[in-house]
Amino acid sequence: MVDCPYFITVEEAMAICQKSPPQIEVETLPIWESTGRILAEDLASKVDDPPFDNSSMDGFACRFDSDATYPLTLTIVGMQAATGANKPLTVGDGQAARIMTGAPMPPGSDAILPIERCRVYQDNVTLLEAPKPHFVRRQGENLQHGHIALKKGQQLTPSRLGLCATMGHATVAVYRRLKVAILSTGDELKPPGESLTHGEIYESNSYGLAGLVEWAGHTPVRFPAVADSMDSLRQALNEASSTCDVILTSGGVSMGEFDYVRRLMEEEGDIHFWRMKIRPGSPPLFGTWSSTPLFGLPGNPVSSHVVFRMLVAPYLRHALGSDGPKEWTVRAKLCDPVKSTKDCVTLRRVTLVSTEEGMMAYQPRHQGSGNIESLASAHGLTLLQPGQSGEVGTWIDVLVL
Ligand code: AMP
Ligand code: MG
Repeated sequence: MVDCPYFITVEEAMAICQKSPPQIEVETLPIWESTGRILAEDLASKVDDPPFDNSSMDGFACRFDSDATYPLTLTIVGMQAATGANKPLTVGDGQAARIMTGAPMPPGSDAILPIERCRVYQDNVTLLEAPKPHFVRRQGENLQHGHIALKKGQQLTPSRLGLCATMGHATVAVYRRLKVAILSTGDELKPPGESLTHGEIYESNSYGLAGLVEWAGHTPVRFPAVADSMDSLRQALNEASSTCDVILTSGGVSMGEFDYVRRLMEEEGDIHFWRMKIRPGSPPLFGTWSSTPLFGLPGNPVSSHVVFRMLVAPYLRHALGSDGPKEWTVRAKLCDPVKSTKDCVTLRRVTLVSTEEGMMAYQPRHQGSGNIESLASAHGLTLLQPGQSGEVGTWIDVLVL
C-alpha cells in the first residue's frame, strides 16, 4: 500500500491536485487566432458601443411629432448611408432623410419609419404611420467607454471574440495552451490499423484523451503506447516531463502485477493520492514526475474518460482560473434504475429525452467500464451522489457530454 491519501472524495482529490499546478505562461495574439483561448487580462472597451446614434432600420429618419396625423407627407432632404465619410444631413420640420441600417442619425431627426411603411413619390415621402424612436440605436446603449465587458479567465467564444473587436482590441493577452502528454501503457495494446493477434486489443484511450485535451483548449502530445516494464515507462515519463506541462497516463494504476505506473510513481516519483470515490474510475492516482504534474488514469476506456471529466478538466480550468470549457448539468428524471453506492459518486451513461415534464434519463446499455460504445452513444453521465437513490422516478443531476 502506498503511503499517501487513499480512496478519497472527488473534492479532496481536486484540492490535492490544485496544490501542484502546471506552469502557466501568457502570450499576446491577434484576436482572429484566439478562438477558444482563455483571457489573461480584463478587457475594457476603448469606445462607446455604438459609437454614435444610428438607425436599426432601412427607412426614413425624421423628427417625431406627437400632434401629427398620418399618412403624413414630408420633403426628402437626401440620403444618409452607413459610411464613415458621409456629410451629415440636417432634418428640419416637414423634412425626412432616406436612411440605411447603421447610418448615423441626421441632426434634427429622432425617429425612424421602416421603408416598408413609406411611399416615395419624386422628392416626397408619405409616412403611412408614426415613425418610431425605438428604431434608433443610442450611442453607448450596449457598452460604455471604459466598461470592462470581458474578464480575465473567460474563454473566448466566437461571440466574445466579436465583442473584443467591437471594443477596439486587435490583440489580446491569453494563456499559452498547455502541452499535455498522453501515454497509454499495456503490452496488449496495438495501434488501430494493424492486425490483432490473440490477446491483443486496439489502443483507444490515447485518442479519446487527446480529443478531451483539445476540447479543454490545450495541446495533446500522444506518445506511442508504452510496454509494461519499469524501464520503458521510466524512459517515456522522462521524455514527457522534459517536453510537456502535464502528463496523463492510462492503465497500470490498479492492483495488478503489471501495474507499473503505480509502482514506478511509488518508488521513483511522488504520489499525492491514490484512488478516488467514483464509479467507474476509482483507481486514479495523482503526483509529480520530475516536478511535472501527472495523472495516472485507469486503463478501462470509460473510466479514463470519466476521470478526465471529473478531475483533469476541472484541474486545467482551475490552473487558468477559467470558466470554460465546461459541461452543462441538467436535472433529469431517471426512467431506468441506476445502482448507486454508499461511498462513491456514480457516473452511469444515460441518454436524454426532452419532454414536457422535463428531461428524461434512460440507461439503455450494458454499463461495463470497458464498454466505450456505451459512452459513445450516451448524452450524459449521472451525478448520483454517495447514498443517493437511483430508483426510477428520482430527479438527479446529469452531466451533459
Ligand atoms: P489496466 O488498468 O492497465 O489493468 O487496464 C484495465 C483494462 O483497460 C484492461 O482491460 C486493458 O486492456 C484496458 N486498457 C488499458 N489501456 C488501454 C488503452 N490505452 N486502450 C484501450 N484499452 C485499454
Ligand atoms: Mg495494463
